[in-house]
Amino acid sequence: MPDPRFTKPWHGVPREQIHWNPTVIEEACIGCGTCVTGCSRLVYRFDFDRKKAVVVDPLNCMVGCTTCANTCPTNAIAFPPLSGVFSLEARPEVRHAIEDDLVGRHDELAWSGRIPHPDRLVELTVAEVGRPNANVLLVRLTPKVKGECFCQFSPGQYVELWIPGTAYLSRAYSIANAPREDGSIDLQIRRVEGGRLSDWAFNRMKIGDSARARGPVGSFTMRSPVDRPLLFVAGGTGFAPIAALIEQQLKLAPQRDMVLVWGVAEEKDFYDLDRVDAWRERDKNLRVVLAAERGRESYCFSQGLGAVTGTVVDALRSAGIALTNRHAYVAGPPKMLTAVVAELRRAGIRPEDIHVDAFGVG
Ligand code: SF4
Ligand code: SF4
Repeated sequence: MPDPRFTKPWHGVPREQIHWNPTVIEEACIGCGTCVTGCSRLVYRFDFDRKKAVVVDPLNCMVGCTTCANTCPTNAIAFPPLSGVFSLEARPEVRHAIEDDLVGRHDELAWSGRIPHPDRLVELTVAEVGRPNANVLLVRLTPKVKGECFCQFSPGQYVELWIPGTAYLSRAYSIANAPREDGSIDLQIRRVEGGRLSDWAFNRMKIGDSARARGPVGSFTMRSPVDRPLLFVAGGTGFAPIAALIEQQLKLAPQRDMVLVWGVAEEKDFYDLDRVDAWRERDKNLRVVLAAERGRESYCFSQGLGAVTGTVVDALRSAGIALTNRHAYVAGPPKMLTAVVAELRRAGIRPEDIHVDAFGVG
């Protein structure tokens, strides 16, 4: 019988809806019994006549656990691919159930030790909000107290931002600019269906609101010698850290050989193109290729921008960019990163010359 202690919903998802349990490959099972006695959830029973492990209560199995398979001496236990669990974790309601559980059990789960953080907590004010399209907000945050700011950081780093007035966990956002004297930072917030921070930002945030941020964090920073040509590849709002890196290079290493490939799903998703135009105006050595999978006919690019209908990988293949000697900086959704890194490797760029940065949750 399934045991109600073990068949409770998994982060809000009814256990019966989750396909996760072991399967014994009988031919390979030598009947050692390790899995049967080793599983504390009584998933297995033992067939004493045939000396075989038998899965009797599959719903008792803990989602994501593979202990019995790992300890089986003959590899006789199989599980479904973990990708099914990962796609459940990607659902907003599952992420929120985990967040609610952490917050609700704070006293039980909080670790009381303290590791000193090299970063800092800063109180900020929402100073400007731009809405270039339905799915992106361009937000400028300024320090509440002069001097208590993100005046020093390495372009490409990110900050952790809290939703004001809630106990929810912070979300990570790349700083989309090089450091400024006034300590202000720009964030590019994308709409995430069901995302809590994105819901606050798109529906309730207004100029003058306070927000708490911690940072700067992250190592997606420039680490290439100045004589190396650079390739920047951005997907969607992966443009934010890339923009910070490009701004830095335009200041510190003008005339450097740089290529930016920026890809979106639909051409109307491009935002901040005025900034791209201003860069190109300032430094003709910066080459820009924009890639949109759909909608090319509806959008007018300014003169001199390369445009490709397709993904960033299509652009890397077809836009006539010499890739081999470049150091690459790639930021975007995880799926895009995998394909781009494979393409760059195929083009001969060494793995140690490819730096990547992935999206967080909203
Ligand atoms: S651990 Fe492997 S070999 Fe041993 S009983 Fe279980 S399935 Fe069979
Ligand atoms: S995966 Fe873990 S919970 Fe599931 S049957 Fe094996 S040991 Fe038990």
